[in-house]
Amino acid sequence: MAERKRVVILGAGFAGLVASQKLAKEAVDITIVDRRNHHTFQPLLYQVALAVLNPSDIAQP
Ligand SMILES: Cc1cc2nc3c(=O)[nH]c(=O)nc-3n(C[C@H](O)[C@H](O)[C@H](O)COP(=O)(O)OP(=O)(O)OC[C@H]3O[C@@H](n4cnc5c(N)ncnc54)[C@H](O)[C@@H]3O)c2cc1C
Repeated sequence: MAERKRVVILGAGFAGLVASQKLAKEAVDITIVDRRNHHTFQPLLYQVALAVLNPSDIAQP
């Protein structure tokens, strides 16, 4: 039986999350490492700065 491959993804930003979603269909074990315990959705930072986004729309880690 072939040994199951392990994949370590460094960074849970857009690239890391998309890579993990694509690799989830493969027969590999995935570990994602990030220095933060949350994903920052950068396209909405402007709305946060301008208080356009409701606090209830932001998920806490
Ligand atoms: C204000 C703003 C608005 C944007 N708006 C848009 C938009 O509307 N549309 C669009 O397509 N793009 C937009 N972008 C660009 C888009 O966000 C980036 O192109 C995209 O996030 C890059 O993805 P990435 O995975 O390379 O990096 P990131 O998403 O930045 O992810 C990097 C990850 O690596 C982690 N990391 C970094 N160093 C370490 C370390 N030493 N150890 C462990 N973890 C580490 C970080 O914590 C982070 O989670 C915007 C960017 C900004 C700043």
